[in-house]
Amino acid sequence: MSDITPSTKLKCVTVHKLQDTSCLRKYFWNRVLNLESRKVNLNFHYGSVLHAGFETLLMTHNISKALFALTTESKKRQKRYTITTEDLDELDLQVQIIQLFIKAASIQPWVNRLKMLWTERQFRCQVADTGVTFCSQVDGGGSAGKDDALFEIKTAKSVNNSYFEALSFDHQIHGYGYQMQQEHQRFPSKCAFCVFRKPSKYIKKGQSREAFVQEIKTDLVKRPEWYFIADPQTHQFPYMLTMGRNTIEQAGKDIVRATQILLKQYQCPEKDILDPYHWPCNDKQCLNYGACTYLPLCRNMAKWQLYTRLYQQREFMYDEEKAELQI
Ligand code: SF4
Repeated sequence: MSDITPSTKLKCVTVHKLQDTSCLRKYFWNRVLNLESRKVNLNFHYGSVLHAGFETLLMTHNISKALFALTTESKKRQKRYTITTEDLDELDLQVQIIQLFIKAASIQPWVNRLKMLWTERQFRCQVADTGVTFCSQVDGGGSAGKDDALFEIKTAKSVNNSYFEALSFDHQIHGYGYQMQQEHQRFPSKCAFCVFRKPSKYIKKGQSREAFVQEIKTDLVKRPEWYFIADPQTHQFPYMLTMGRNTIEQAGKDIVRATQILLKQYQCPEKDILDPYHWPCNDKQCLNYGACTYLPLCRNMAKWQLYTRLYQQREFMYDEEKAELQI
């Protein structure tokens, strides 16, 4: 594990970091040891490539720039992770399909109403009585029709009423609202959730890749509303959420409480912080959103150090994360 530096202090929290506490053992692997799998995660690849393409489309309204951005993002991911020949085929197919999505999005009637004026902006606020900073990076902000709005770009396998209910108190977006309120005493009242449904079709036995890509292309033309998820009330893309003061207040309280609980885990000698058993596992989370990437470590606790060769140091998004390193 020589190329990996653990973090033994808690200087900052983020929405994602707090979400990792649903299994404290996962938090330990990901946020204390800073490990991430060397193997490419196909779901993350799909999400981040589509994100790069659509964000650029909304910023520039230029299809060539959007296609360039998504290809660049895919190449960047492929450089960082170990790719098998099978993965390479799948990644290539994903890029082709996402290109179709972005081209189809660029000619939808709603696209000109969406204007993204900034992307990936970082926000900061102090978590009360903890000495910890709450850090966020918001996908984007601008306007959706007449409304000033934050933008959130999401990909989903299945979308139903429960999906929209969950979005209506989504901790990530309300956490951003909480943060903006703390930093600027105001928050935008709308969030434009741009939700893309992933194709549920698969290459059939005997079907060529070209025929499959063509099938998706035809389906996108036939029923774009199946892929670009409309607001159930207005029946227009995207889903517009009104962010309420009460929900933002609740999100703020949850962030403060979750940070206080997490901070207690760090109030012990450093050797305990670096002991995986100090961080209890919650095996109910192992198969949440697919198999957990840390299964090889958890399955082999007696010699987990041997399995760290399957991992590399995760990327840091925030300067504050560097202040947490054991250096
Ligand atoms: S494999 Fe299960 S117990 Fe281990 S970190 Fe992942 S979710 Fe937690």
